[in-house]
Amino acid sequence: MQGKIALEEHFAIPETAEDSMGYFPEPVQREVRERNADIHGRRLALMDEYGIEMMILSLNAPAVQAIPDKARAAEVARKANDFLAEQVQRRPGRFQGFAALAMQDPDVAARELERCVKELGFRGALVNGFSQAGDAETVVYYDLPQYRPFWATVERLNVPFYLHPRNPVPRDARIYDGHPWLLGPIWAFGQETAVHALRLMASGLFDAHPRLNIILGHMGENLPYGIWRVDNSNAWIPNRNKWPAKKRLGEYFSSNFFLTTSGNFRTQALMNAMLEIGADRIMFSTDWPFENVDHAANWFDACPISENDRFKIGRSNARRLFKLGNE
Ligand code: MN
Repeated sequence: MQGKIALEEHFAIPETAEDSMGYFPEPVQREVRERNADIHGRRLALMDEYGIEMMILSLNAPAVQAIPDKARAAEVARKANDFLAEQVQRRPGRFQGFAALAMQDPDVAARELERCVKELGFRGALVNGFSQAGDAETVVYYDLPQYRPFWATVERLNVPFYLHPRNPVPRDARIYDGHPWLLGPIWAFGQETAVHALRLMASGLFDAHPRLNIILGHMGENLPYGIWRVDNSNAWIPNRNKWPAKKRLGEYFSSNFFLTTSGNFRTQALMNAMLEIGADRIMFSTDWPFENVDHAANWFDACPISENDRFKIGRSNARRLFKLGNE
């Protein structure tokens, strides 16, 4: 398919380049380092070759979220955003941007998002899970009350918020002890991100701010498969669990969330997501440079869905959500 738009596509700046290296054996690190540093060379050639008209770019992970010093986190976010704005300016028809945000300080994050949207023309924010705030062991999730004014800003600016994975801190990763292979994209990323998304849903955030749009990668971090059971296991036992949210969590999932195909190039998983959330809420992505554009595009272009759905997932859903015009 020509004209695809991809939106979980990363780059690195020198301050964050090493963050991505822990997930790869030595020989692959050099390759990933080169991919991360490139925007207009090999990346653009791959986009041309595999029918990707536009990438909405974001900083790699965990980057800003793993900088406990609030001032330093804000500085790195701003630097990454200014760098990205320059890249977008060179080819706005091929690249657009997501803001990196120092969520360690909700006010700083809100102001930077506003700057990125209004002054730099960014299309939303991509944040790498919880933030370490003040010290490496203090983790903050965005369902906490101090983030409500931030979410009000996101809603007012009317831009999507991509909740991207990261690994849990060691204290919260003991279930993986002795099995380090479970960390990262193999399993821990999805687990961590799904729990964060469920926290947002149950907190009542989407009752207070019903127009928020949250994007999850990797075909929804296993939530399409699990969301029904979350509600059903509560349904027949009165007051088994209480949460502030007013509706079933699946209703927020269907109303406030979008998914992308990043790193999960599997027809069976796509079918499940289409049955649970619908083709209007799924968007093509690759997860370059940590996955491969050819794997994503070759699978997606041939997977057995209707051409109407392929057009929605490959292009028109993203154009609508990111206000890119109706082509
Ligand atoms: Mn990614």
